[in-house]
This record gives sequence, C-alpha cells and structure tokens, in this order.
Amino acid sequence: MISFEPSEDQQLILGTVADFTRASVAPRAREVEGARAVSDDVRRAVAEMGLGAAHVPEALGGQGLGLLTAALINEELGFGDAATCFGLPAFGSFSYAVLELASEEQARALLAPLCDPSRGDAFASVAWSERAVNRERAGFTTLATPVDGGFELTGRKCFVQNVELAERFVVFAQVEAERGWDGLGAFVVSKGDAGVSVGERHRTLGVDCGNFAELGLEKVRVASSERLMGGSDFTRATLRFFAKYSLIVAARQVGLGRAAFDVAREYCDIRKAFGKPIGHFQAVAFTLADRHMDVESAREMVRRAAWMWDAGKDDAACLLATAHAAAHAHEVAMRAADDAVQLHGGAGFMRDVIVEKMMRDAKQMSLVGMTPEQLDQLAARITTGQPLDAGAVLPTPETQAIFT
Ligand SMILES: Cc1cc2nc3c(=O)[nH]c(=O)nc-3n(C[C@H](O)[C@H](O)[C@H](O)COP(=O)(O)OP(=O)(O)OC[C@H]3O[C@@H](n4cnc5c(N)ncnc54)[C@H](O)[C@@H]3O)c2cc1C
Repeated sequence: MISFEPSEDQQLILGTVADFTRASVAPRAREVEGARAVSDDVRRAVAEMGLGAAHVPEALGGQGLGLLTAALINEELGFGDAATCFGLPAFGSFSYAVLELASEEQARALLAPLCDPSRGDAFASVAWSERAVNRERAGFTTLATPVDGGFELTGRKCFVQNVELAERFVVFAQVEAERGWDGLGAFVVSKGDAGVSVGERHRTLGVDCGNFAELGLEKVRVASSERLMGGSDFTRATLRFFAKYSLIVAARQVGLGRAAFDVAREYCDIRKAFGKPIGHFQAVAFTLADRHMDVESAREMVRRAAWMWDAGKDDAACLLATAHAAAHAHEVAMRAADDAVQLHGGAGFMRDVIVEKMMRDAKQMSLVGMTPEQLDQLAARITTGQPLDAGAVLPTPETQAIFT
C-alpha cells in the first residue's frame, strides 16, 4: 500500500507548526516585509521548536526526521508566509550543502549552532553565485589557490542570502582552473576571517527579508580541514545539495500556492456580480478548479520526491522526481498567485490585499538555487540518458550582466 499521508509523529509536528503559523507567521507577513527582517521572538520560537533541524540526522545533533518532514514543515510555514522562511536561521541552504559535502566530523561541528534550540540567530549561508565576466574557461572566477596548509580564496559572490547575519559560509571556488566545471571545491569561511567583506544590501521584489548582498573574499586563508570534499563524487554531491534544497523551496511554493488559492476562493464567494458570487460563473469556477488541481498535484509530487530521498531510492530517480516536483511547484505557485491577483480585480493590485505580495514572493522563489528551466534541463538529461556533467546541470554561477 502506497501512502504519503503524514505519520502520527509528523501530524503532531504539523499541528504545532500550523498553530504557530496561524498565530505568529501569517498575521505578521506585512510586518516582516516592512522591517525587512523576521523578528527575534519568531526566530527564537522556531529555534526552540527545532524546526530548522528536522532533517538533520540525530547523530549530527538534529531531529532525524528526514527530508519529508522538513518539506511538510516548510509547506506549512510557506502557507503562512513563504518569505519569512528566508529570514529564519537554519532555513537557508547551508545545512543541505553541509549534509551532502562535509565529512561526519565536519558536519557535526558546522551544524551544532543551527541545531541548538537556544540559538535564534545561528545564520549560515552558501556563496555560489558570482558576477558574470567575459572569460575563456569554464568554471568559477572565485579562486582557491593552494598555499601552505590550506588555500587562499579570492573573488566576489553575489545574491548571498543573510550575508550580514551569517556567521559562516560554504563558499564554492575554482581549485583547478584547467578542469573547468570539474575543478570546483567547497570551503568553509567564517565571517571574522581576514579578507572577508560584505557588500551593500540589495532591495528585492519579494522575499526581501532574505537580506541579499555580495560577499567579498580577498586572500582569505582557509585550512585544508575546512575544505568539504563531497565524498567520492563532488559534482554529484553538489547536485544532490541543490536538488534537495530546491525541493524545500518547492515545498514553500506549495504552501504559498495553497494560501493564494484559499484567499482567491474565499473572495470569489463573497464578491458578487449580477446577483451571484463571481465563483459561480463558469470562467471563474474553472480557474479555481484548475488552480486547486495544480496545488494538489504539486503537493503530492513534492512529498513523493522527499519520501524517495528518505527511502534511499536510486540517486537518478530521486533527482528526476525532484526536478519534476520543484519545476512544477514553481509554476503552480506563480499561476496560483497570479490568478489570485486577477480574480481580485483592481483590489488584487493593492498593498492592502495579501495576494500581490504572494505573486512577488512566488516569482522571486523561482529564482532561488535551481530555476524551473535548470530543473527542466536536469530532468531532460536524465530522461534522455545524457551524462550529468557539472557544467550542464548545476546552476550557472555567473549572474546578470547588470553587475559587470
Ligand atoms: C531569493 C533568492 C535567494 C538566493 N540565495 C542565494 C544564496 O544564498 N547564495 C547564492 O550563491 N545565490 C543565491 N541566489 C542566486 C540564485 O542561486 C540564482 O539567482 C539562480 O541560480 C539563477 O541564476 P542567475 O540569476 O545567474 O540566472 P541565469 O543563470 O543567468 O539564468 C537566466 C535565465 O536563463 C535560464 N537558464 C540558466 N541556465 C539554464 C540552463 N542550463 N538551461 C535552461 N535555462 C537556463 C534561467 O532559468 C533563467 O531564466 C539567490 C537568488 C534568489 C532570487
């Protein structure tokens, strides 16, 4: 018998998260947007409940509840306010990178602050993206040059989440220039390391509490012990990291899609035209029915992919299910929010109505980590039996020409 129904334990956690979301996340979505930050009390409450450590194995200090539980938690929080997730410590991509790339000993040390229920401020981030420049070779412009006892990192990273708040970063850099995308490495850099600087914070369309800025690295010394090797296949480990974090973002998109659908359905019931609720007109009713189908399908696909990872299914099968689920969830969230705005008419465009914010957040989330196009590219490569070369399936790090 196949079942994606949450277990009793998962239902208990979900009940707690749903109550918390209703009381402290959804009603404060506008406050978070205005402050461009999640408040301390919410961060602390999330840390105390251990929500950011659900997927971290018990042996590494986490709750050992797996990716599916993490996806369920993220969906529920995303239902309240998906943007808030990006301003919570331990909800960024750092733990997913560490779990795939670090040794057990490294992971235990790196994840300890994120798993500590007394820490509502344990931010850590991944620095992957960088400015686009014209160059001849493939790979990163950020270089990791071997020096005595370790490496020296130099470069600039873009769009890094929570840079101002993060204590630590996993920084991707080019170790062997001649090997292109196959010559990458990952290193742990601390905020206090000599040569680390933080750029000016960007203003973003949605998810602005994510606190995005550049991370500068000028001859930053990193010990060999701070290099994350990614087991026997670094590219595959990096791909698993991106895929799993994409699935978590997709779960937030499902939550957002559910919320947008609920708000739209309610509005279509109370707004009347020609003596009946607009939801009773066929064109509107079909739109609602389609969006409902969208959200339900994305939800099942995300849950199934997360369950597959937890069940230890074959890597390629998990990557394919994840690529399908995440690409679909991004599109579903955007359609749900877009239609919710449309069905509200002119009111949908006003800042008083939450759907306009959902539309902005959904768009921004589809540009986190692997975009829908990159997820499609991954799925296509697996489906057609092509090799999963790093340069073809990892997100391109070079970012928009506006920064060149
Ligand atoms: C909310 C948010 C949080 C982020 N957090 C971080 C962070 O913490 N750390 C960090 O390093 N970066 C972060 N980023 C940056 C993010 O990883 C990139 O924006 C994302 O990978 C897309 O890359 P890009 O902007 O360079 O777009 P590009 O790669 O320039 O893509 C441009 C367009 O081309 C498409 N495209 C690109 N490659 C392919 C392909 N192979 N096949 C088909 N289409 C393709 C894309 O889908 C997109 O539509 C964040 C971004 C956002 C919006």
